[in-house]
Amino acid sequence: MSDQIYLDNSATTRVRQEVLEAMLPYLSDQAGNPSSLHAMGRQAAEAVAGAREQVARLLNCEADEIYFTPCGTYSNNTAIIGRARFAEANGLGRHMITSRIEHPAVLGPAKYLESLGWRVDYLPVDREGLVSPADLERSIGPDTSLISIMWVNNEIGSVQPLAALAAAAAGAGVYFHTDAVQAAGKLPVDVQRAEVSTLSLSGHKFHAPKGIGVLFARRGAGLMPIVFGGGQERGLFPGTQSVADIVAIGKAAELALAELDENMISLRRMQQILMDKLLAVDGAQITGPRDPQKRLPGHLSLVLPGCRGEALVMRADLKGVCISSGSACHKGIVEPSQVLLACGVADTDALGSVRISAGRLNSVEECRKAADLLLSAFLACSRQASSRAPA
Ligand code: PLP
Repeated sequence: MSDQIYLDNSATTRVRQEVLEAMLPYLSDQAGNPSSLHAMGRQAAEAVAGAREQVARLLNCEADEIYFTPCGTYSNNTAIIGRARFAEANGLGRHMITSRIEHPAVLGPAKYLESLGWRVDYLPVDREGLVSPADLERSIGPDTSLISIMWVNNEIGSVQPLAALAAAAAGAGVYFHTDAVQAAGKLPVDVQRAEVSTLSLSGHKFHAPKGIGVLFARRGAGLMPIVFGGGQERGLFPGTQSVADIVAIGKAAELALAELDENMISLRRMQQILMDKLLAVDGAQITGPRDPQKRLPGHLSLVLPGCRGEALVMRADLKGVCISSGSACHKGIVEPSQVLLACGVADTDALGSVRISAGRLNSVEECRKAADLLLSAFLACSRQASSRAPA
């Protein structure tokens, strides 16, 4: 194992040993197709059914409400475009509501619906990146047939008041989707407490491999497929199921549920260690909520005005710590994050944003060491920035 300290768990996570051990047989001896009638096919089908039960327990729902998907992006696309298809087929209105801080896997389908003539409202967020349930209620009209608001934001860690948002939608009888990709394993995700119609997960964010996701769809949610083929996943996600990946996400879900309380405590501790140390850098400002109850455990995001996010990431990398920046590079031009702009961060400040995200496989000791290394990397960047600033 490398001696890098990996603090980029919101980007992806390592596959856990227990998960790897559970999935490996389905890549070798037990390589049957779950649709085959013979013994190996039946074994594979049983493994898929077992994983469906494990994921259902994590979300507190029935197994037949769980669909395995190719990843979080596909789950979100089906929840949105598949809902729009259903709305059109059933004469419902062509109005969607979402927020300004969604992941591209939600904003992309929303833009696509706009191109088809749908009206889409993008709800604002406050300075901490939170959507107001009252704003949502006001935006719902007689033609609203689809709402999509993420549970946790990947860049700034804001945890939406999801139960209240979903209740506002349910009160008006409107379909409500949530992208819960960042929440699994770090927060309770209970679809009986939050009355969502559909919800997306992605395996690689909670220690299963990349390329496997889940869509929870409540019975009667009102969805149509957007991909056509065989009848797998009850026709909603056709294509031969990747049994090994499904077994992996099932095992990861089982571990996430069993270890949730412990994870939340240790991730909050690591988050506090990083926060206490790094906010000492002159001018550093936290982005997203400060209150740990409103923030994803283990997640810290900040801006260092005058610095560039990519430079901070590279300096951290040279010290052996893996983190992310919030700015995106399009055709050689570095652009500030739309999420930070939506929270009212000035665009020059937004260019100096970083995200540090601890996970289950980090230790408190490692975070203490990383906090020291990041502090010296950030101080060096910040000194360089002040020496460049005009007197
Ligand atoms: N939604 C959020 C909030 C994410 O952070 C990500 C991944 O970064 C996705 C969706 C996409 O998930 P996947 O990588 O499985 O397609």
